[in-house]
Parts: sequence; structure tokens; C-alpha cells
Amino acid sequence: MSAKIIDGKAFAATVREKVAGHVSRLREVHGIVPGLAVVLVGDDPASEVYVRNKGKQTLEVGMNSYEHKLPEDTPEADLLALVARLNADPAVHGILVQLPLPDHIDEEKVINSVTPSKDVDGFHILNVGLLATGQKAMVPCTPLGCLMMLRDHHGSLSGLNAVVVGRSNIVGKPMAQLLLRDSCTVTIAHSRTKDLAEVCRGADILVAAVGRAQMIPGDWVKPGATVIDVGINRIPAPEKGEGKSRLVGDVDFDSAVQVAGAITPVPGGVGPMTIACLLANTITACCRAHDLPEPSGLTA
Ligand code: NDP
Repeated sequence: MSAKIIDGKAFAATVREKVAGHVSRLREVHGIVPGLAVVLVGDDPASEVYVRNKGKQTLEVGMNSYEHKLPEDTPEADLLALVARLNADPAVHGILVQLPLPDHIDEEKVINSVTPSKDVDGFHILNVGLLATGQKAMVPCTPLGCLMMLRDHHGSLSGLNAVVVGRSNIVGKPMAQLLLRDSCTVTIAHSRTKDLAEVCRGADILVAAVGRAQMIPGDWVKPGATVIDVGINRIPAPEKGEGKSRLVGDVDFDSAVQVAGAITPVPGGVGPMTIACLLANTITACCRAHDLPEPSGLTA
């Protein structure tokens, strides 16, 4: 048996299309142009690539994109002042401060300085609490993307056993909250979990968000299970030439694809959904700001 490959790239394109449709309706019917502000501090090359991609895709769906690049040695107070200006700017519906921030800046303080209704990353403590208590929240983009793909594949997730490997605040915990909200029976596993293999074998839905290349082999996967691989790990690829590398997930794709019912590849699975969900969250934030109905299929 070979699993269905869940094509995150294609799915992300359909999400962006839906977003673009909502953007034109907001513009034509209500005269509103949703705006996303992205703040980058320093010159980390990976972050620069992310920010560039976010800006490009924001413009492609017809939204306004506001990019703020600050030098590495920007004082924390200056960053907080910029966030305060963006909070007050009615043209800005979503604010994202690219992480990680330089060491001299208190990340928590900055995250919690963003107005919760504009917090399109869903990291503000208020949104964390709203999600945990089943209320209307801004939901972190990567778990939201995973949820959309799972709903699309399964329809209802009710009653399914879900195992989330990883308990980070940005992926593992919100993923578990979303699955619980969709009535899965959820187990969160982490580095201290005993007999992780056996825990994983009980999963109808297995989400891997660990950051360890190919650590979950096919024989940890229940036959027919849906595997969502969030991990992005770079490993040497001598077959591509000296010094070359390639991206792999936290799941050993080649063995897992033989056992699973459906699986996301790396690259081309969860990754492309993350930015698509950032755009979806910006639309949601814009609609909420203007008391308009929320776009269906783009929220949790
Ligand atoms: P973190 O490092 O913050 O968290 C990793 C989690 O994995 C921790 O909870 C840790 O447990 C757990 N863990 C580590 N080793 C083991 C082990 N041997 N067995 C079981 N659990 C283990 O990572 P993130 O959540 O930020 O990211 C996870 C992965 O997802 C990374 O590869 C990252 O690059 C990728 N990612 C991908 C995104 C995308 O868009 N596709 C977006 C965000 C992340 P403990 O808490 O006990 O230490």
C-alpha cells in the first residue's frame, strides 16, 4: 500500500485563491483593502527570505504589504514604538514580527505588545488563552494549515486518536488545542515521553513537530493513519554533489509512505500552507475589525 500524498503546495494555492476572492469582495463591496505589516529586525538570511516571500504573496492576493526592516542593534524601545504605531494604524489589519529577535530584545514582551486582534501569528498570550478555552482566537499559522489539510482529507475529525509529537508554543501546543477542539482524542508527546514508538502507533492522526531529521520511521505509523510532517531539517545530500544538502521532515518518508493512509511530503507539505494561512488570518482580522462575517473555510 502506498499513501495518498497530501499536496500542500496545491492546497496552499487554493487557500490563496480563496483569500484573493475575499480581498476583491472587500475592496469592491466595502472599499476596504486588507493590510499586513511585517517587521524584520536584523539581517538573518533565512528570515529575510521568509519576509520577502510573505511580502510577495501578500501583494499577489491583492492586499497591501508594509515591510519594516530595522537594523540588528535596534533598541527594544524603538521596536515597541513601531509596533504601537502599527497597532494604531487603521490600514494595518495584521502585524507579524519575524522571529527570532536579536538577544537584547525580550521576545515575549514584543509578542504581547501586538494588539491581539491584529496578532496574525496567534502568539499573543490572549490568543493562546482564547484558543485553549475554545473561544474565537487568532490561531497560529502552521497548526492552522495542518488543520485545514486534515479537515480536507477526513471531513470530520471527531473521535479520532491524534498524537502530536512536540510541545512547542508555536506548533505542538496549538496543534493539540485545535485537534481537541475538533473532538479528537489528543496525546501530546515530547522528549520525555516513554515508549514514543508505541504512543505513535496508536495514532489515527500523527503530527510530527520535533525538528529531528527522519526520526519517526514507518513502523511507528499505524496502517492507514494520516501523517502530517511539520519538521524542516536540512541534511547532507552527497548524491546531489559535494557539499550539497536537501530538506527532509521529522518522518522517514520512504518507510512511512508504505504504511500511512495519507502523508504530507517535505518539502511541499506543511511549509507552503504556513504563509497561505498568514494571509487567511489577515483576512479574518480585517473582517473582524470591520464587523463583517468571517470568511468560511479560512478559520479554525
Ligand atoms: P521546538 O524545538 O520548539 O520543539 C521541538 C519539540 O520536539 C519539543 O517539544 C521537544 O520536546 C520535542 N522533541 C525533541 N526531541 C524529541 C524526541 N527525541 N522525541 C520526542 N520529542 C522530542 O521546535 P518547533 O515546534 O518550533 O518546530 C518543530 C519542527 O517544525 C522544526 O523542524 C521546525 O523547523 C519545523 N517548523 C516548520 C514550520 C513550517 O512552516 N512547516 C513552522 C514552524 C516550525 P521537549 O519539549 O521535551 O524538549
